[in-house]
Amino acid sequence: MNTPPIDLRSDTVTRPTPAMLEAMFHARVGDDVYEEDPTVQALEAETAARFGLEAGLFCPSGTMTNQIAIKAHTVPMSEVICEQTSHIYLWEVGGIAFHSGASVALLTGDRGRLTAPQVEAAIRPENVHYPITRLISLENTHNRGGGSCYTLPELEALAEVARRHRLPLHLDGARVFNALVATGQDGREYGRLFDTISVCLSKGMGAPVGSVLLGSRAFIQQTKRIRKVMGGGMRQAGYLAAAGLYALEHNVERLADDHRRARKLADLLAARPYVAEVLPADTNLVIFRLRDSQPAEAFLAYLEQQGIKASSFGPQLIRFVTHLDVDDAMLARVEKALVALD
Ligand SMILES: *Cc1c(COP(=O)(O)O)cnc(C)c1O
Repeated sequence: MNTPPIDLRSDTVTRPTPAMLEAMFHARVGDDVYEEDPTVQALEAETAARFGLEAGLFCPSGTMTNQIAIKAHTVPMSEVICEQTSHIYLWEVGGIAFHSGASVALLTGDRGRLTAPQVEAAIRPENVHYPITRLISLENTHNRGGGSCYTLPELEALAEVARRHRLPLHLDGARVFNALVATGQDGREYGRLFDTISVCLSKGMGAPVGSVLLGSRAFIQQTKRIRKVMGGGMRQAGYLAAAGLYALEHNVERLADDHRRARKLADLLAARPYVAEVLPADTNLVIFRLRDSQPAEAFLAYLEQQGIKASSFGPQLIRFVTHLDVDDAMLARVEKALVALD
């Protein structure tokens, strides 16, 4: 086949466009560990402004921004409240234990979303046997929950619990722009509710590298040491930050196209006889379960043959992700392949 492959495994597979590369090529740079890179500083300031927070810290990955935040918010023998399928717990190599020596209180959410009463009930009372609760962490959109999002009232209720118990509230916002675009929420509302936010530029935003941790000026100052000890201090990182700035300017509103395509895929899948269940496609992730009569391995091999890549996401579970490098013509090819398997 002479057609380009269609990669639905993740929104991390995008390659920078010529226009993004052009922006990177012309970046003004300096040594960012010396705090002399104007483009990194511009990215940190612009991202912080979008969320109504004071300052930002540019890091190589979302795992690093999350783990730095957790380290700064906790002490050894304390505890982080999070959802049992949250990225910080499930997919960051046990980093909470490794970096922070902290424990986790794992809650079961509705497609990853926690409620205020649920979180409040998990806060530890004073008792010498217990770890001390030090942090509440949410994820929006929720990856394992199939890109589910919180409503603003839900977030406000959670923030109220955090505030009343004097606990910091962190957001793993790897796909926070997807949440904002899907719900019409304003990022600046998040700055009122969350103490710290981790934002990824390398997912749906289409940058090749980079995440920004947001918080108060004092908090971000404190995190510079932690980034350094993790080996995340970068030098002429402005070339990478330029891609992030370009993404903020050009790739936010277009996430609505990814969401439209994800909904279309979800509808298509729901009508297939070999599909048992499709999670609601609220943003750009489509998680579905194949009937036992259609083994997942064979399904993925069939797609591969058709030039389509997808991820296994558990027993009989498959994930499709729409992103910058999936257009309507590709979607039509996916449709043809899916229908042909009926
Ligand atoms: C991808 C992702 C991250 C961070 O991933 P990196 O690959 O380390 O940038 C964090 N949280 C969620 C929910 C993610 O999907």
